[in-house]
Amino acid sequence: MVLRSVFALYQQVPNILSRVAVMMKPQVVFVLGGPGAGKGTQCTKITENYSYTHLSAGDLLRGERAREGSEFGQLIDRHIKEGQIVPVEITINLLKKAMEETMKADEKKFRFLIDGFPRNEDNLQGWSRVMDDKANVKFVLFFDCSNEVCIDRCLERGQHSGRTDDNRESLQKRIQTYLQSTRPIIDQYEKQGKVRTVDASHKVDEVFADVKAILDKEG
Ligand code: ADP
Ligand code: AMP
Repeated sequence: MVLRSVFALYQQVPNILSRVAVMMKPQVVFVLGGPGAGKGTQCTKITENYSYTHLSAGDLLRGERAREGSEFGQLIDRHIKEGQIVPVEITINLLKKAMEETMKADEKKFRFLIDGFPRNEDNLQGWSRVMDDKANVKFVLFFDCSNEVCIDRCLERGQHSGRTDDNRESLQKRIQTYLQSTRPIIDQYEKQGKVRTVDASHKVDEVFADVKAILDKEG
């Protein structure tokens, strides 16, 4: 009798676990670094090796820019070319929708790498307003490398990316935006002990070895 009850309970374990997953708050790692630091490259490698979903704020904005009938297309286009930060309401809504759709399609996908966010104080406050009670930010993965390396990589990428902002003129502005607006956000998280820094100037696989060490430790 007791054995049968234990067995019945045992059979329920997968159901119980999946219900726990449904209740799981999204677990978020913010991924920051200069333009071309290698955020996207490393996020792709992470998703191949760990159960994370990669959401790039830049990709979501480019997708919205390209979406037929989007009321924000021109505004996003202007901001991207000028290396400026798009108003937070647009970016947050795209991120929130992408997270919800991912979790709706597969309840076990509740771990997210949010790449290129928060890029400024406005982004940070927008996140606090809309997402603080809906998601847990575990830490910030910071890809650190010099402006020169960032610029060289973006110019190289610009030869085939077709991106409107991988040119010298846009890059100067993007680096300025990064230094003036994003670095202070990284510093704020640093003070809270929430930044995990990786030297991004090394080769892709060497950088990934450092990323792995961090993720294996953080869980
Ligand atoms: P981000 O997402 O930070 O803008 P990407 O991942 O798109 O940067 O990388 C920018 C460019 O630099 C790409 O062309 C990519 O192939 C290249 N790249 C990325 N990481 C490295 C690295 N560690 N060493 C050399 N080139 C890299
Ligand atoms: P990225 O693909 O990360 O290099 O971003 C390209 C451009 O998209 C940036 O220069 C900004 O114009 C815009 N962008 C990306 N992330 C954000 C963000 N979090 N908030 C506002 N604008 C962003």
